[in-house]
This record gives sequence, structure tokens and C-alpha cells, in this order.
Amino acid sequence: MTAMGVYDAIVLGAGAAGLFCAATAGQQGKRVLVIDHADEPGKKILISGGGRCNFTNVHTAPDRYLSTNRHFAKSALSRYTPADFLTLVESRGIAWREKTLGQLFCDGSARQIVAMLMAECAQGGVDVVCGDAIRDVRHADALFHVVFGVRSVSAPALVVATGGPSIPKMGASGFAYDLARQFGLKVVQPRPALVPLTLGGDEVLFRELSGVATEVIARTDGPWGKGQFREAALFTHRGLSGPAILQVSSYWQRGAAVQIDFLPERGEGWLKTAKRERPRASVRKVLAEGLPERLATALCERLGLEGELVAQSDKALSAAEARLARWPFMPDGSEGYAKAEVTAGGIDTSALSSKTMEARAVPGLYVIGEAADVTGWLGGYNFQWAWASARAAGLAI
Ligand SMILES: Cc1cc2nc3c(=O)[nH]c(=O)nc-3n(C[C@H](O)[C@H](O)[C@H](O)COP(=O)(O)OP(=O)(O)OC[C@H]3O[C@@H](n4cnc5c(N)ncnc54)[C@H](O)[C@@H]3O)c2cc1C
Repeated sequence: MTAMGVYDAIVLGAGAAGLFCAATAGQQGKRVLVIDHADEPGKKILISGGGRCNFTNVHTAPDRYLSTNRHFAKSALSRYTPADFLTLVESRGIAWREKTLGQLFCDGSARQIVAMLMAECAQGGVDVVCGDAIRDVRHADALFHVVFGVRSVSAPALVVATGGPSIPKMGASGFAYDLARQFGLKVVQPRPALVPLTLGGDEVLFRELSGVATEVIARTDGPWGKGQFREAALFTHRGLSGPAILQVSSYWQRGAAVQIDFLPERGEGWLKTAKRERPRASVRKVLAEGLPERLATALCERLGLEGELVAQSDKALSAAEARLARWPFMPDGSEGYAKAEVTAGGIDTSALSSKTMEARAVPGLYVIGEAADVTGWLGGYNFQWAWASARAAGLAI
């Protein structure tokens, strides 16, 4: 702490982005303070990736992010890459492994990533203070003044790194949006993303399949573009989950369908071919060759195709094929912020410099990480955005 409580930068939020930004600026010789209301830093990192933190994805590219401003993330992502973060991870002796789809995880524990970030902060002489609520933030005489707990501190730079409201029980809040509005920045309507979807109406019948998982292609079309993902889908007691559904949920808007291809491996005409080759096989048995038994039975019932293949008309089989390839679910909602891995939307990036994350109209004010309207796919992309945006701001301060 400086004697007068004056720093070069104050970072609000000791999460992924805040800690990395503070460490970057601190190691450039800046005096940096990080403030967080939670009792310890990096709580979301600790629960991420099932406790092993999927800290980046080797396939990181701007088209794997949703934002009202599609080009915004490009600059920061290109200047701090997954390979850069991996170099840091390895320099701290953290063992890692690649799982599916380019996802890099700690071999040991997510705790190692928090420890690494704290060690980087210590190396930069950063002060990290947890456990006190931020009571007031003001801007006067080219300085940002922050009151938290019983202290008052000032700095010419303020970094908003308080994330989004997903998982409120971890200390997540919409604080960043209130602060943005206070400084005249717009907020793109936030919404839960990477979140399970719920089924109602007739589709509640699918809840009976709770626990059944299968690989599908899930598709939806919304204002944020077309989402199409080939991964596992899982039926739950409330509706649909699993990676394919979480991914597609970020693109889904209320009232739209999510289409599921239950048998992505099967080519056109496969049911008619099966009828010619094995006329006495039941439709259910043929479906169960590519799907879990309970799901095959449920789909068969809904298709109204009981009995042997030979008993079905070619027309009925073609119609069934088409339905199985684009089974339309109409989710009636999502499980909300309580279950959403991230918040899509957020502080409008059109007011920010894509090079430095600084608000053009408020010199010295920076917005990084999930607080900004940039949302990655599932699989390490959100942490990579946190690191890249933090780095851009940390070097600019
Ligand atoms: C269960 C779960 C698993 C996840 N797994 C992964 C994964 O494996 N890979 C991946 O890439 N992404 C994952 N994510 C998403 C990832 O955790 C976030 O995108 C990332 O943490 C965002 O970083 P951030 O620094 O912007 O925000 P956060 O890490 O959320 O940090 C924000 C910080 O601000 C603090 N804060 C909030 N409000 C206030 C306030 N009013 N006053 C003071 N402090 C405040 C919070 O306490 C927190 O410490 C996961 C998310 C969840 C919920």
C-alpha cells in the first residue's frame, strides 16, 4: 500500500482478468491495488473446469466469441495467444493436458492457476485486498476515487474486472454494469449463456429421460448468429444440458427452436436402406443401434413408428429421418444465472478501444474480461478472453 492510498491503477475484481491485468501492470513498474468483495481471490477459477480449470483453448479464434461488435476481440486475442498463456503456465511448473477439442486443463488443480496469478501479482508488487465491499467510486480531478471497507484510495486508472452476474452465490454481481452506466457507457442487455435449457408443455415428457446422454448436432439461429455444435447432449430433470446444449444456449433466444440431429453419422436414406436390408428388424432396434435404448424407445413412440421396418411406408421412414435429423425442441427458458457458466452481453464494446480496453470517453477507465460484451464458447475460450483483454489493458495503463 502506498502511504497516501494513491496508486497508478486500481483494479476492481480479483478474478481471472483482474489478477492478470494487475500482475501485468505491476510487472511494468506500476503501483497497483486489486479490490474484491469476496473472501478470497479467483473463486470462479477454483470451480472452473470441474476443479481443474480449462484455462485456454488452442483453437482460439475471434469467430468463437459472441459480441455485438464481432471484430472487437480480434486485436487483444491476436496479441496474447493460448501459446503465450501456456508458456506462463509451464514457467510455473504447472502440469497440464489437452482434453477434447483443444481444451487445456491443469493436471492437478485449478488452485494452481490462482496461485500462479497471485505469484505473478506478488512479483509485480501488487496489493490484493479481499473481503470488503466497494462503497463508492467517483471520478474527479483526473483521478478515480474508490471507497471500500474503511479505506479510501485513488488512482488515475481504474480497471473494471468484476465479471458478470453468473453464479451469484460465488460473489458474482452486476456491479460492472452499474459502474458503466455511472460513467455513461452503454450496456448490451446481459443474458445467461452456456446454460442448461428447460423444457415445458408436451416436451416435459422428455424429462423422463433424465440422465440419458448422446452425441448430437445442436443448432439454433438467433440475433447473435447461427450456433451449430457437435458434442454430447444430456436430458435432465428440467430439460436439456450437456456441452452441445450449453454451447447452443449462448445463441438461443426465447421463442426460438433448438434443433437436434440425433444421428449425425447417418446419411440420407439410411432408414429406407435398413428396411431393404433388414425388413424384419424393428424401428426401435435400428434406432437403438445408434442411440441409448431409452432414447430410442422414446423417439420411436413420438414418431409413431412401432413394429417392423417392413410395416412402415417409405414416406413415413423419410419423414422420420428428417425429424430425427432436425428434431425441434422449443425450450421455455434456461436455468438462469444460477447455473450459467457465463453472462453474454455486458458493457458495450463500441465505447472501448480494442487495443487497450480503455473507454474512449473516460480516459483512464478500462473494462476487461466477462464484464465486457464478449462471450466465448465453452472450452477455455472465456479464460483466454480474460487473459488477452487483461494483458491489453495491463500494458496500456
Ligand atoms: C462453474 C463455472 C465453470 C467455468 N469453467 C470455465 C472453464 O473451465 N474455462 C473457461 O474458459 N471459462 C470457464 N468459466 C467462465 C470463467 O470462469 C469466466 O468467464 C471468467 O472467470 C471471467 O473472468 P473475469 O475476471 O472477467 O470475472 P470473474 O473471474 O468472475 O471475476 C470477477 C471478480 O469480481 C468480483 N466482484 C464481483 N462483483 C463485485 C463487487 N460488487 N465488488 C467487488 N468485487 C466484485 C468477484 O468476486 C470476482 O472475484 C466457468 C464459469 C463457471 C461459473
